[in-house]
Amino acid sequence: MQVNPTFTRAFTLNSGLHFNMDTPVRRPRIDPKFAGYKLSIRRSKIHRYGVYAEERIPANRKVIEYTGERLNRRETKRRGEGEYTYLFTLDKYWTLDGAFGGSGAEIINHSCEPNVVSRIMKGHIIYMSRRTIEPGEEITVDYNFEYVGDRTFCACGASNCRSVMERMTPKLERDLAKEKAARAASTGRAGARRAGANGKVEPQSALESKAKSKAAYI
Ligand SMILES: [Zn+2]
Repeated sequence: MQVNPTFTRAFTLNSGLHFNMDTPVRRPRIDPKFAGYKLSIRRSKIHRYGVYAEERIPANRKVIEYTGERLNRRETKRRGEGEYTYLFTLDKYWTLDGAFGGSGAEIINHSCEPNVVSRIMKGHIIYMSRRTIEPGEEITVDYNFEYVGDRTFCACGASNCRSVMERMTPKLERDLAKEKAARAASTGRAGARRAGANGKVEPQSALESKAKSKAAYI
């Protein structure tokens, strides 16, 4: 499988989820033992595969539990530095690796306007519905990546999409505004220059080229 190198890098969520966007989970499937409702895995418009509701799910219900191999801090760090897939921190000491013994919740895609939210209850990570979910709807959760300098382009399609998967902080807001201003200035300059040369304006920002490569990859 062709892997776009832009996205084969590690991310850390403020929830403690380490994530490699392009590591495929082998034979994705839903384990009905951990699902509160009938769910399926299908191709997603958001990214590769997604999890879909196969029946109506009322608000505030358990949709699925996020399961995986339980890792201590040392093992988490080791896997976090190597080839890994889906690590979700349960608490200060324990992390679940959804790549091993995952319920299928690890396939759930990010959205800036998600229909489920993760809650930690008695040592379990539970994805709860935020509203009624209709049959056929894709299940989504906000990854809320911690912003540590890297930004992950988001194309979730929500009307309030913040354009990145990182949790919005004042610093991120400032950096995005700066980038937008720089892009506008650069596109303006390039536009004037190129319009003189060949009348064509090309995308200038890293964010835009990322968007293009991701779209191509999907
Ligand atoms: Zn988004």
